Amino acid sequence: MSDIFEIDKQYVANTYNRFPVDLVYGKGSLIKDSNGKEYIDLGSGIGVTAFGIQDEEWKKAVIEQLNKIQHASNLYYTEPCANLAKLLCEKTGFKKVFFGNSGAEANECAIKVARKYAEDKGIKDSSIITLKNSFHGRTIATLAATGQDVFHQDFLPIAQGFLYAEANNINSIKELVANNKVSAIMMECVQGEGGVIALNKDFVEDVYKICQEKDILLIIDEVQTGNGRTGKLYAYMNYDITPDVVTTAKGLAGGLPMGACLLGEKVQNTLGPSKHGSTFGGNPIAAAGAISIISRIDEALLNDVKKKSEFIINKLQGKEGILSISGMGLMLGIETKKDVKDVLKYLMDNGVLALSAKTKLRLLPALTITIDELDKACDVIIAACKE
Ligand SMILES: *Cc1c(COP(=O)(O)O)cnc(C)c1O
Repeated sequence: MSDIFEIDKQYVANTYNRFPVDLVYGKGSLIKDSNGKEYIDLGSGIGVTAFGIQDEEWKKAVIEQLNKIQHASNLYYTEPCANLAKLLCEKTGFKKVFFGNSGAEANECAIKVARKYAEDKGIKDSSIITLKNSFHGRTIATLAATGQDVFHQDFLPIAQGFLYAEANNINSIKELVANNKVSAIMMECVQGEGGVIALNKDFVEDVYKICQEKDILLIIDEVQTGNGRTGKLYAYMNYDITPDVVTTAKGLAGGLPMGACLLGEKVQNTLGPSKHGSTFGGNPIAAAGAISIISRIDEALLNDVKKKSEFIINKLQGKEGILSISGMGLMLGIETKKDVKDVLKYLMDNGVLALSAKTKLRLLPALTITIDELDKACDVIIAACKE
Protein backbone atom coordinates (compact mmCIF):
# COMPACT_ATOMS: atom_id res chain seq x y z
CA MET A 1 0.00 0.00 0.00
CA SER A 2 2.64 2.57 1.03
CA ASP A 3 4.38 1.39 -2.14
CA ILE A 4 1.53 2.86 -4.16
CA PHE A 5 1.81 6.14 -2.28
CA GLU A 6 5.51 6.31 -3.11
CA ILE A 7 5.16 5.32 -6.77
CA ASP A 8 2.36 7.85 -7.18
CA LYS A 9 4.35 10.59 -5.47
CA GLN A 10 7.36 9.87 -7.63
CA TYR A 11 5.64 9.53 -11.00
CA VAL A 12 2.25 11.28 -11.00
CA ALA A 13 2.34 15.05 -11.54
CA ASN A 14 2.16 16.70 -8.18
CA THR A 15 -1.14 18.58 -8.71
CA TYR A 16 -3.23 16.94 -5.99
CA ASN A 17 -3.00 16.83 -2.23
CA ARG A 18 -4.21 13.27 -1.89
CA PHE A 19 -5.56 11.78 1.32
CA PRO A 20 -3.42 8.84 2.48
CA VAL A 21 -5.92 6.23 1.30
CA ASP A 22 -5.84 3.99 -1.78
CA LEU A 23 -9.25 2.80 -2.82
CA VAL A 24 -9.45 -0.63 -4.34
CA TYR A 25 -13.03 -1.88 -4.21
CA GLY A 26 -16.54 -0.64 -3.68
CA LYS A 27 -20.20 -1.51 -3.82
CA GLY A 28 -22.90 1.14 -3.60
CA SER A 29 -21.77 3.71 -1.04
CA LEU A 30 -19.27 1.45 0.72
CA ILE A 31 -15.63 1.58 -0.37
CA LYS A 32 -12.61 -0.39 0.81
CA ASP A 33 -8.95 0.55 0.84
CA SER A 34 -6.07 -1.88 0.34
CA ASN A 35 -5.94 -2.58 4.10
CA GLY A 36 -9.52 -3.83 3.93
CA LYS A 37 -10.76 -0.83 5.89
CA GLU A 38 -14.31 0.10 4.87
CA TYR A 39 -15.62 3.63 4.42
CA ILE A 40 -19.08 5.11 3.92
CA ASP A 41 -18.63 7.32 0.88
CA LEU A 42 -20.15 10.81 1.17
CA GLY A 43 -18.15 12.23 -1.71
CA SER A 44 -18.89 9.84 -4.61
CA GLY A 45 -15.71 10.91 -6.38
CA ILE A 46 -16.79 14.58 -6.25
CA GLY A 47 -20.37 13.87 -7.28
CA VAL A 48 -19.43 11.49 -10.07
CA THR A 49 -20.57 8.00 -9.09
CA ALA A 50 -24.18 9.15 -9.04
CA PHE A 51 -25.60 5.68 -8.40
CA GLY A 52 -22.69 4.50 -6.28
CA ILE A 53 -19.90 2.07 -7.07
CA GLN A 54 -20.66 -0.89 -9.32
CA ASP A 55 -24.36 -0.20 -9.67
CA GLU A 56 -25.61 -3.39 -11.32
CA GLU A 57 -27.79 -1.85 -14.00
CA TRP A 58 -25.14 0.69 -14.95
CA LYS A 59 -22.50 -2.02 -15.08
CA LYS A 60 -24.70 -4.15 -17.33
CA ALA A 61 -25.27 -1.24 -19.75
CA VAL A 62 -21.56 -0.42 -19.87
CA ILE A 63 -20.44 -4.04 -20.31
CA GLU A 64 -23.03 -4.68 -23.04
CA GLN A 65 -21.66 -1.74 -24.98
CA LEU A 66 -18.07 -2.81 -24.28
CA ASN A 67 -18.89 -6.12 -25.96
CA LYS A 68 -20.05 -4.27 -29.10
CA ILE A 69 -17.74 -1.34 -29.88
CA GLN A 70 -15.73 0.88 -27.52
CA HIS A 71 -15.07 3.87 -29.76
CA ALA A 72 -15.98 4.91 -33.28
CA SER A 73 -14.93 8.57 -33.85
CA ASN A 74 -17.43 11.27 -34.63
CA LEU A 75 -17.07 10.59 -38.36
CA TYR A 76 -19.69 7.88 -37.86
CA TYR A 77 -23.00 7.43 -36.09
CA THR A 78 -23.29 5.33 -32.94
CA GLU A 79 -26.52 4.38 -31.22
CA PRO A 80 -25.74 5.30 -27.56
CA CYS A 81 -24.67 8.86 -28.47
CA ALA A 82 -27.83 9.52 -30.52
CA ASN A 83 -30.12 7.97 -27.93
CA LEU A 84 -28.50 9.82 -25.03
CA ALA A 85 -28.89 13.17 -26.79
CA LYS A 86 -32.55 12.33 -27.48
CA LEU A 87 -33.12 11.32 -23.86
CA LEU A 88 -31.52 14.51 -22.49
CA CYS A 89 -33.54 16.69 -24.89
CA GLU A 90 -36.81 14.92 -24.13
CA LYS A 91 -36.28 15.28 -20.39
CA THR A 92 -35.33 18.97 -20.51
CA GLY A 93 -36.81 20.59 -23.62
CA PHE A 94 -33.34 21.44 -24.96
CA LYS A 95 -32.92 20.94 -28.72
CA LYS A 96 -29.42 19.59 -29.23
CA VAL A 97 -26.45 18.28 -27.27
CA PHE A 98 -22.70 18.56 -27.81
CA PHE A 99 -20.70 15.87 -26.03
CA GLY A 100 -17.20 16.28 -24.57
CA ASN A 101 -15.36 14.46 -21.82
CA SER A 102 -15.37 16.76 -18.82
CA GLY A 103 -17.00 19.72 -17.17
CA ALA A 104 -14.39 22.13 -18.44
CA GLU A 105 -14.96 20.93 -21.99
CA ALA A 106 -18.72 21.32 -21.65
CA ASN A 107 -18.09 24.91 -20.54
CA GLU A 108 -15.58 25.52 -23.35
CA CYS A 109 -18.36 24.58 -25.75
CA ALA A 110 -20.77 26.97 -24.03
CA ILE A 111 -18.19 29.78 -24.25
CA LYS A 112 -17.70 29.18 -27.97
CA VAL A 113 -21.47 29.11 -28.50
CA ALA A 114 -21.82 32.45 -26.69
CA ARG A 115 -19.05 34.11 -28.69
CA LYS A 116 -20.35 32.85 -32.00
CA TYR A 117 -23.95 33.75 -31.15
CA ALA A 118 -22.76 37.35 -30.66
CA GLU A 119 -20.59 37.25 -33.80
CA ASP A 120 -23.56 36.00 -35.83
CA LYS A 121 -25.42 39.13 -34.70
CA GLY A 122 -22.47 41.27 -35.84
CA ILE A 123 -21.08 41.84 -32.34
CA LYS A 124 -17.30 41.38 -32.25
CA ASP A 125 -15.18 40.95 -29.11
CA SER A 126 -18.11 40.25 -26.84
CA SER A 127 -17.74 39.31 -23.17
CA ILE A 128 -19.33 36.74 -20.89
CA ILE A 129 -20.37 37.74 -17.37
CA THR A 130 -19.65 35.17 -14.68
CA LEU A 131 -19.92 35.49 -10.91
CA LYS A 132 -17.29 36.15 -8.31
CA ASN A 133 -16.56 33.02 -6.27
CA SER A 134 -17.66 30.79 -9.17
CA PHE A 135 -15.84 27.74 -10.49
CA HIS A 136 -16.02 26.71 -14.14
CA GLY A 137 -12.92 24.57 -14.75
CA ARG A 138 -9.15 24.47 -15.18
CA THR A 139 -8.57 25.06 -18.89
CA ILE A 140 -7.33 28.51 -19.82
CA ALA A 141 -10.77 29.76 -20.89
CA THR A 142 -12.71 28.17 -18.04
CA LEU A 143 -10.09 29.43 -15.58
CA ALA A 144 -10.78 32.90 -16.91
CA ALA A 145 -14.50 32.23 -16.47
CA THR A 146 -13.84 31.23 -12.86
CA GLY A 147 -14.36 34.40 -10.83
CA GLN A 148 -11.61 33.80 -8.27
CA ASP A 149 -8.23 35.49 -8.59
CA VAL A 150 -6.42 32.68 -6.77
CA PHE A 151 -7.07 30.40 -9.75
CA HIS A 152 -5.71 32.96 -12.25
CA GLN A 153 -2.42 33.55 -10.41
CA ASP A 154 0.62 32.05 -12.14
CA PHE A 155 -1.24 31.54 -15.44
CA LEU A 156 -1.30 35.02 -16.86
CA PRO A 157 -2.18 36.20 -19.40
CA ILE A 158 -5.60 34.77 -18.67
CA ALA A 159 -8.12 34.47 -21.53
CA GLN A 160 -9.88 37.72 -22.44
CA GLY A 161 -13.59 38.32 -22.57
CA PHE A 162 -14.82 37.64 -19.06
CA LEU A 163 -16.41 40.09 -16.63
CA TYR A 164 -17.20 39.32 -13.02
CA ALA A 165 -20.39 40.28 -11.20
CA GLU A 166 -21.29 39.91 -7.54
CA ALA A 167 -23.52 36.92 -6.82
CA ASN A 168 -26.99 37.89 -5.59
CA ASN A 169 -26.41 41.54 -6.59
CA ILE A 170 -28.56 42.33 -9.62
CA ASN A 171 -27.21 45.88 -9.86
CA SER A 172 -23.74 44.49 -10.37
CA ILE A 173 -25.10 42.52 -13.37
CA LYS A 174 -27.04 45.53 -14.71
CA GLU A 175 -23.98 47.74 -14.56
CA LEU A 176 -21.81 45.30 -16.52
CA VAL A 177 -24.57 44.72 -19.08
CA ALA A 178 -25.01 48.49 -19.57
CA ASN A 179 -21.32 49.16 -20.13
CA ASN A 180 -20.15 46.18 -22.21
CA LYS A 181 -20.96 44.02 -25.23
CA VAL A 182 -22.23 41.01 -23.31
CA SER A 183 -22.94 37.74 -25.15
CA ALA A 184 -23.90 35.61 -22.15
CA ILE A 185 -24.19 35.34 -18.41
CA MET A 186 -22.85 32.08 -17.01
CA MET A 187 -23.42 30.88 -13.47
CA GLU A 188 -23.88 27.89 -11.17
CA CYS A 189 -27.26 27.77 -9.38
CA VAL A 190 -25.39 26.40 -6.38
CA GLN A 191 -21.75 27.49 -6.26
CA GLY A 192 -20.06 24.19 -5.47
CA GLU A 193 -16.32 24.75 -5.13
CA GLY A 194 -17.13 28.25 -3.89
CA GLY A 195 -18.62 26.84 -0.68
CA VAL A 196 -21.95 25.16 -1.59
CA ILE A 197 -23.89 28.40 -1.81
CA ALA A 198 -27.27 28.44 -3.58
CA LEU A 199 -28.06 31.62 -5.48
CA ASN A 200 -31.15 33.55 -4.37
CA LYS A 201 -34.29 32.79 -6.34
CA ASP A 202 -34.97 36.48 -7.04
CA PHE A 203 -31.46 37.06 -8.32
CA VAL A 204 -31.52 34.08 -10.69
CA GLU A 205 -34.95 35.00 -12.04
CA ASP A 206 -33.96 38.67 -12.47
CA VAL A 207 -30.83 37.62 -14.37
CA TYR A 208 -33.06 35.50 -16.60
CA LYS A 209 -35.31 38.51 -17.29
CA ILE A 210 -32.35 40.71 -18.21
CA CYS A 211 -31.06 37.99 -20.53
CA GLN A 212 -34.44 37.78 -22.26
CA GLU A 213 -34.78 41.57 -22.61
CA LYS A 214 -31.29 42.06 -24.04
CA ASP A 215 -30.94 38.85 -26.05
CA ILE A 216 -28.09 37.73 -23.81
CA LEU A 217 -27.62 33.97 -23.45
CA LEU A 218 -28.17 32.44 -20.04
CA ILE A 219 -25.68 29.61 -19.48
CA ILE A 220 -26.16 27.49 -16.37
CA ASP A 221 -23.15 25.44 -15.31
CA GLU A 222 -24.64 22.21 -13.96
CA VAL A 223 -21.40 20.26 -13.96
CA GLN A 224 -21.79 19.61 -10.24
CA THR A 225 -25.48 20.43 -9.61
CA GLY A 226 -26.84 18.38 -12.51
CA ASN A 227 -28.22 14.89 -12.96
CA GLY A 228 -30.45 14.71 -9.90
CA ARG A 229 -28.00 16.15 -7.39
CA THR A 230 -30.24 18.95 -6.07
CA GLY A 231 -33.52 17.03 -6.08
CA LYS A 232 -34.40 18.07 -9.64
CA LEU A 233 -32.93 16.60 -12.82
CA TYR A 234 -31.10 19.92 -13.27
CA ALA A 235 -30.73 22.58 -10.59
CA TYR A 236 -32.14 25.35 -12.81
CA MET A 237 -35.48 23.53 -12.52
CA ASN A 238 -35.62 24.76 -8.92
CA TYR A 239 -35.95 28.28 -10.37
CA ASP A 240 -38.50 29.76 -12.75
CA ILE A 241 -36.09 30.09 -15.69
CA THR A 242 -35.35 28.55 -19.08
CA PRO A 243 -31.61 28.73 -19.77
CA ASP A 244 -30.30 28.86 -23.34
CA VAL A 245 -27.38 26.60 -22.54
CA VAL A 246 -26.82 24.06 -19.76
CA THR A 247 -23.48 22.35 -19.22
CA THR A 248 -23.08 19.18 -17.21
CA ALA A 249 -20.56 16.41 -16.53
CA LYS A 250 -19.58 14.88 -13.15
CA GLY A 251 -22.52 12.53 -12.38
CA LEU A 252 -23.76 12.31 -15.97
CA ALA A 253 -22.26 8.95 -16.94
CA GLY A 254 -22.16 7.46 -13.44
CA GLY A 255 -18.36 7.37 -13.22
CA LEU A 256 -17.19 7.47 -16.82
CA PRO A 257 -15.72 10.67 -18.27
CA MET A 258 -18.38 12.59 -20.14
CA GLY A 259 -19.44 16.20 -20.45
CA ALA A 260 -22.46 17.60 -22.25
CA CYS A 261 -23.47 21.03 -23.45
CA LEU A 262 -27.24 21.27 -23.88
CA LEU A 263 -28.33 23.80 -26.48
CA GLY A 264 -31.70 25.54 -26.44
CA GLU A 265 -33.85 26.82 -29.29
CA LYS A 266 -31.85 30.03 -29.93
CA VAL A 267 -28.46 28.37 -30.15
CA GLN A 268 -29.23 24.91 -31.48
CA ASN A 269 -27.54 25.69 -34.81
CA THR A 270 -24.99 28.25 -33.66
CA LEU A 271 -22.13 25.77 -33.99
CA GLY A 272 -22.15 24.25 -37.47
CA PRO A 273 -19.92 21.60 -39.07
CA SER A 274 -16.21 21.99 -38.25
CA LYS A 275 -16.88 24.73 -35.68
CA HIS A 276 -16.29 22.44 -32.72
CA GLY A 277 -15.37 18.83 -31.99
CA SER A 278 -13.84 16.30 -29.65
CA THR A 279 -12.17 13.00 -30.52
CA PHE A 280 -13.65 11.15 -27.56
CA GLY A 281 -16.87 13.18 -27.28
CA GLY A 282 -20.01 11.04 -27.21
CA ASN A 283 -17.98 7.88 -26.67
CA PRO A 284 -20.39 4.90 -26.87
CA ILE A 285 -19.38 3.36 -23.54
CA ALA A 286 -19.71 6.63 -21.63
CA ALA A 287 -23.00 7.29 -23.45
CA ALA A 288 -24.36 3.83 -22.58
CA GLY A 289 -23.46 4.50 -18.93
CA ALA A 290 -25.15 7.90 -19.07
CA ILE A 291 -28.35 6.49 -20.57
CA SER A 292 -28.51 4.02 -17.70
CA ILE A 293 -28.18 6.90 -15.19
CA ILE A 294 -30.35 9.58 -16.82
CA SER A 295 -33.20 7.18 -17.68
CA ARG A 296 -33.51 6.22 -14.00
CA ILE A 297 -33.61 9.76 -12.58
CA ASP A 298 -37.38 9.90 -12.18
CA GLU A 299 -39.75 11.60 -9.73
CA ALA A 300 -39.43 8.77 -7.19
CA LEU A 301 -35.64 9.01 -7.16
CA LEU A 302 -35.72 12.82 -6.97
CA ASN A 303 -38.15 12.67 -4.03
CA ASP A 304 -35.76 10.25 -2.37
CA VAL A 305 -32.93 12.73 -2.86
CA LYS A 306 -35.01 15.42 -1.12
CA LYS A 307 -35.91 13.05 1.74
CA LYS A 308 -32.26 12.09 2.25
CA SER A 309 -31.30 15.74 2.19
CA GLU A 310 -33.87 16.52 4.91
CA PHE A 311 -32.67 13.52 6.88
CA ILE A 312 -29.08 14.83 6.90
CA ILE A 313 -30.15 18.38 7.75
CA ASN A 314 -32.48 17.28 10.57
CA LYS A 315 -29.83 15.01 12.00
CA LEU A 316 -26.96 17.52 11.93
CA GLN A 317 -28.60 20.90 12.45
CA GLY A 318 -27.91 22.48 15.82
CA LYS A 319 -25.43 19.84 16.93
CA GLU A 320 -22.37 20.96 18.88
CA GLY A 321 -19.74 22.47 16.59
CA ILE A 322 -22.05 22.59 13.55
CA LEU A 323 -22.68 26.25 12.76
CA SER A 324 -24.80 26.14 9.59
CA ILE A 325 -25.82 23.96 6.67
CA SER A 326 -26.15 25.27 3.12
CA GLY A 327 -26.88 23.83 -0.31
CA MET A 328 -29.63 21.85 -1.94
CA GLY A 329 -30.59 18.19 -2.17
CA LEU A 330 -27.57 15.93 -1.78
CA MET A 331 -25.16 18.81 -2.29
CA LEU A 332 -24.63 20.17 1.20
CA GLY A 333 -22.04 22.43 2.81
CA ILE A 334 -21.56 22.29 6.56
CA GLU A 335 -19.89 25.13 8.39
CA THR A 336 -18.03 23.64 11.34
CA LYS A 337 -16.46 25.27 14.35
CA LYS A 338 -13.41 23.05 13.98
CA ASP A 339 -11.05 23.39 11.03
CA VAL A 340 -12.53 21.36 8.18
CA LYS A 341 -9.16 19.61 7.64
CA ASP A 342 -9.37 18.18 11.15
CA VAL A 343 -12.98 17.17 10.61
CA LEU A 344 -12.10 15.35 7.38
CA LYS A 345 -9.22 13.55 9.08
CA TYR A 346 -11.44 12.42 11.96
CA LEU A 347 -14.06 11.22 9.46
CA MET A 348 -11.49 9.26 7.46
CA ASP A 349 -10.00 7.68 10.58
CA ASN A 350 -13.53 6.66 11.57
CA GLY A 351 -14.64 5.23 8.23
CA VAL A 352 -16.28 8.13 6.40
CA LEU A 353 -15.05 9.77 3.20
CA ALA A 354 -16.21 13.34 2.61
CA LEU A 355 -15.08 16.52 0.86
CA SER A 356 -14.47 20.15 1.61
CA ALA A 357 -15.38 23.33 -0.25
CA LYS A 358 -13.47 26.39 0.92
CA THR A 359 -13.82 26.22 4.74
CA LYS A 360 -16.90 23.97 4.72
CA LEU A 361 -17.37 20.25 4.96
CA ARG A 362 -19.02 19.24 1.69
CA LEU A 363 -21.26 16.21 1.22
CA LEU A 364 -22.00 14.84 -2.26
CA PRO A 365 -23.07 11.26 -1.57
CA ALA A 366 -24.37 8.91 -4.26
CA LEU A 367 -28.06 9.58 -4.91
CA THR A 368 -28.68 5.93 -4.03
CA ILE A 369 -27.03 6.00 -0.59
CA THR A 370 -29.30 4.38 2.02
CA ILE A 371 -30.79 6.18 5.03
CA ASP A 372 -29.03 3.62 7.22
CA GLU A 373 -25.65 4.53 5.70
CA LEU A 374 -26.44 8.23 6.08
CA ASP A 375 -27.50 7.69 9.68
CA LYS A 376 -24.20 5.99 10.54
CA ALA A 377 -22.11 8.54 8.65
CA CYS A 378 -23.95 11.47 10.29
CA ASP A 379 -23.19 10.00 13.73
CA VAL A 380 -19.50 10.11 12.80
CA ILE A 381 -19.86 13.71 11.55
CA ILE A 382 -21.52 14.69 14.83
CA ALA A 383 -18.66 13.12 16.80
CA ALA A 384 -16.10 14.77 14.51
CA CYS A 385 -17.54 18.26 14.98
CA LYS A 386 -17.81 18.10 18.78
CA GLU A 387 -15.15 20.02 20.68
C1 LIG B 1 -16.06 20.27 -11.39
C2 LIG B 1 -16.62 21.46 -12.03
C3 LIG B 1 -16.16 21.90 -13.28
C4 LIG B 1 -14.98 21.26 -13.99
O1 LIG B 1 -15.23 19.96 -14.36
P1 LIG B 1 -14.01 19.03 -14.84
O2 LIG B 1 -14.68 17.75 -15.25
O3 LIG B 1 -13.08 18.87 -13.70
O4 LIG B 1 -13.38 19.72 -16.00
C5 LIG B 1 -16.80 22.97 -13.86
N1 LIG B 1 -17.83 23.59 -13.25
C6 LIG B 1 -18.29 23.20 -12.05
C7 LIG B 1 -19.46 23.90 -11.46
C8 LIG B 1 -17.69 22.12 -11.40
O5 LIG B 1 -18.15 21.75 -10.20
